[in-house]
Amino acid sequence: MSNLPNLFIFDFDDTLSVRGSCYPIEELAINQDQLNLKEINYNYLKTHRCWNRRMNEVHKKLAEQGIDTQQIIEVCRTIELSPGTHELFRDIIDHNGKIVIMSNACDLVVQECLRAQNLLQYVDKIESNPVRQTDPVIVIDEYENPLQTTCQFCDPNLCKGSIIDQYRKRNLYDRMVFVGDGDNDVCAALRMNKTDYVFAKYDETSEKQVYDTMYDLLKNRYFQQLKTELFMASILTKRITSQISSMNKRQFFTWLNAIWNRYDQKRVQEIGPDRACAEWLLRCGGAVRFKNRQAITTDYNAIPSGGPGQQKVEEIRAVKACITSDGFAYLKGLTDLRKVHLEKCDQIGDGTIARLKQSKDTLESVALIDLPQLTENGVGNLTELKNLKQIDLARLPGVKSRDGIVRLLTNELPGCHVNYDDSYPHAPELQEK
Ligand SMILES: [Zn+2]
Repeated sequence: MSNLPNLFIFDFDDTLSVRGSCYPIEELAINQDQLNLKEINYNYLKTHRCWNRRMNEVHKKLAEQGIDTQQIIEVCRTIELSPGTHELFRDIIDHNGKIVIMSNACDLVVQECLRAQNLLQYVDKIESNPVRQTDPVIVIDEYENPLQTTCQFCDPNLCKGSIIDQYRKRNLYDRMVFVGDGDNDVCAALRMNKTDYVFAKYDETSEKQVYDTMYDLLKNRYFQQLKTELFMASILTKRITSQISSMNKRQFFTWLNAIWNRYDQKRVQEIGPDRACAEWLLRCGGAVRFKNRQAITTDYNAIPSGGPGQQKVEEIRAVKACITSDGFAYLKGLTDLRKVHLEKCDQIGDGTIARLKQSKDTLESVALIDLPQLTENGVGNLTELKNLKQIDLARLPGVKSRDGIVRLLTNELPGCHVNYDDSYPHAPELQEK
């Protein structure tokens, strides 16, 4: 276990805040016609795509109507945050986490909102466009100069992905957790690696369905062609922040694991059981080997594509993976699974081994190593796998009668070699993890 803190990176508008910070500011206009949002939005969408420039135009028009900076700051202080934000932030800090806010708005808006709600104290850094002047009118500068225009996902100016890269280079964090909602969060989400987490906020209650951009993008458009290993696009409802905050860290990860291991019938139908099984294992930090291939696949992006049923999973290898019994539903429909190696997976219990029966006609080799929850009741389930030729058991503290279990397996599976040896070598992957 690393002692480094986890880094939690939050998008601001619509993720932490209930609605975009531009709306209360624009609503200050005494005369909406004179504000002429239609033109401002047209310029933004068709000419520059720079949010800071768009807001500078808004500020200028507001000033023309006599709205001063102080009034704008006042509305920023009252921006409504998603329920549970306070508890979540406190909880993250209590668990030695760091919080960074990353926003296309500006540092002033985020700062004023968080300070007024007593949350600024928890935040390590706000990565946003800097406000250059507040008087007589607020002027927001670009995040970086020269202007970033090369990212294929981000609008010009602030590239969230490159900010993530800079944090990662510093090597000060264990995991990264990114929470966002919109298409300008996709870039950051794609930079997460296999030990990180991405939450895409999804507001089920929204009639407009404007909050689900990133969720859709991740799940449908980009999920199969990610350049980095992205393992999760979860649903973050408005309430989930309060849900997380009421859990301790252990519960939080249990909850995440439950999402990782959830059987996705639709996905199985879409891509076939073999690929879906591979996705499940790699999502959880495990690996697979496909039939007629030598190499084990550990890279999510290296999962071979091809129509359903073309690539067969022949071997499952889970070393220190967060797989749970629920995930083993993905064995259903596998026709060529011959080998299963489970090592140091803390959540594997007796029930999990019972689920191997789904592959009883093909399984030839099972290794159960360093599994603290396993007892002879679980190992005994192997007797139903009549095709087994090799069983390796090691370091199973829950198995009380070693001789008894070896005798049982040898009697029930006469064609199988049973090796119970606590000096069984540790998986090489453990050195990397
Ligand atoms: Zn980018």
